[in-house]
Formats: sequence, structure tokens, C-alpha cells
Amino acid sequence: MSEISNIGVLTSGGDAPGMNAATRATVRTAIANGLRVTGIIRGYTGLVAGDFEQLQARSVSNIVQLGGTMLKTSRCEAFLEPEGREQAAARMADAGIDGLIAIGGDGTFRGLRDIYVEHGVSAIGVPGTIDNDIYGTDLTIGFDTAVNTALESIDKIRDTADSHDRIFFIEVMGRKCGAIALEVGVSGGAEAVLVPEVPVDLDELSRAIAQGKSQGKTSYIVVVAEGAHEGGAQAVCDFVSRRVELEGRVSIIGHVQRGGSPTSADRRLASRMGRSAVEALIEGRADIMVGVRCGKTVHVPLEEATSKKKTVDLDLLTLARIMAT
Ligand code: ADP
Repeated sequence: MSEISNIGVLTSGGDAPGMNAATRATVRTAIANGLRVTGIIRGYTGLVAGDFEQLQARSVSNIVQLGGTMLKTSRCEAFLEPEGREQAAARMADAGIDGLIAIGGDGTFRGLRDIYVEHGVSAIGVPGTIDNDIYGTDLTIGFDTAVNTALESIDKIRDTADSHDRIFFIEVMGRKCGAIALEVGVSGGAEAVLVPEVPVDLDELSRAIAQGKSQGKTSYIVVVAEGAHEGGAQAVCDFVSRRVELEGRVSIIGHVQRGGSPTSADRRLASRMGRSAVEALIEGRADIMVGVRCGKTVHVPLEEATSKKKTVDLDLLTLARIMAT
């Protein structure tokens, strides 16, 4: 058992629905164990500046259902430099913060690893990102909500696509990772899904759509992850519309995918992970990320979580293709 008495908690990088639920779980678990909790405002920016706030159990009342993050988030240039991290470690020491929980994505975890290695800060990562692109965990906080938000839009677009005999190219988030696109592609019944992990063949896509048209299909939904093709869904639409006689339309779902009230699954995941992170600190663990694998909570070395690449389930592409027959 460690001597942790005051846990610092921050949210960093891209925000994700469920970060508040994770903050709440961290605060309440710490207090239930007789520890103090310090909220760090705007991620590493607040850590470097010493922008701290003592949190009580009631400080996190009524936030479990809210998107965004009450602790605010930021991208912090200073933390990329050793001097910035040194200052952050000094601020922590001054405030008596002896454990650090950072809720964020892989960039956040790189910074966390650095401050652990350089200054021995007891640091634990909680994966919060809509992209579900962190190695070592089946799920990240925010992914389920983002998927459901995108799906709701796709269902609505399908209604209008069907009424007008149109092809809709729907862009969802995912610059480097096709997880959201694959998930909504299958659950939204898309005719095709384009992801960054698989080279896009627009000739083949055009041929498939033309063939479907000759077999009586009158409307199409093509889900495009934003990083699947240079120029995104608009470029794909321009290309295919020149080849196939169906009216092409583009819909970019955009930032709504980052916001909104977290789903039950995300609130539960965040609650479990926040609790697990505090318990890990109490047990004297550091330099790890908490994750879930096959429904079980796991600890993953930060080094592994930040250096290995998570693979998406490409069998979902095959599933989407069969379902579109
Ligand atoms: P995310 O955590 O969502 O991936 P970013 O990649 O923007 O978001 O990272 C969040 C913050 O983490 C950055 O603004 C920076 O302060 C810190 N960070 C990112 N990469 C590193 C790194 N290699 N070393 C130190 N700090 C980093």
C-alpha cells in the first residue's frame, strides 16, 4: 500500500462524453477512501500553471449526465518540453499532490509517461476519447456516445436518401482510426464503409454502386471516416457522382459527435475506470492505464498503451458488405 493522500485529477486533449462521469468516479472513490482530491483545470495547462481547486463529494454533483468536461481541457505546448514538466512536478509538490489521474487520449498518456519517468510522479491514465483508438482497452470513454450520435443522424439521412433516390456520403469522425465508421456502418446499414486502415478504391466503389443500381437499389449510404480519403466525403462524392447516375449528397456529421449526454454504457465505463484508477493508486501502482478487456478491468503499462497500435475489427467491413447485398 502506498502513502497517497491527495490525488490530482485532470482531463486533457480532445474532450469526450463521459469525462465528467470519470471525474466524478475519481473524486467519490478517493473521498470514500479518506483521500483528498484536487481538480486540475484545463489539463496540463493547469498543471504547469498551478491552477488547482480542492474538490469535495458535492463538487461533482449533477455532472454524471453532462457531456464536455467540468474540469475543462486543453492542448498544452509547455508540457511537451522538459522544463514545462519540471514546473508541473514542482507545482504538484507545492500543493501536496502525490498521485495524478489523467483522463484523455494517447497524447495525454505520452505526457503522463514523461512526468512519471522524469519526476517519479505516481501517474495513472484513464482512456477518454471518442475514437476508441487506444491500445490495451476494448473501449474508451465517449466512443459509445459518439457512435450513437452519428447513428441517429444516419438514420435520419436514410429517410431522405430513400425519398429522393440519392447517394449520401456521410463523413464521421476518425482521422486515423475507422472505429466509429465501422460501428455505424454496420448498425446503420450502410452500403459501403471507407476507413483509413484500408486503401480506398473509388473505381471499385463506383462499380459496386452502379451494379446495385442495375439491380434495383435506388438509394445509398456510404459512410466515410474523415481520414479515409484525401478530401474526405466531398472528394469521394465528387468522384462517384461523375461515374454513376445518382444524385450525390454529402453530410458531415462533425462536432456533434463529441458532445451530448453520455450513454449509459459510457457512464458505466467511466465510473468503473475512475474507481479503478484511484484503487490502483492506493495499491501503489503507477505508470499504467486502466482499461477493459472482455468485460474485465485491466491495467496496461503506459509504455505499451502509447507505443502499440490498436487494430480495428475489419471483419465489420465484411459484415457491412454482406448486409448490403
Ligand atoms: P489526446 O490526449 O486526446 O490524444 P493530444 O494529442 O492533443 O490529445 O495531447 C494532449 C496533451 O498531452 C498535449 O497538448 C500535450 O500537452 C501533451 N502531450 C502530447 N504528446 C506528448 C508528448 N509526446 N510528450 C509530452 N506531452 C505530450
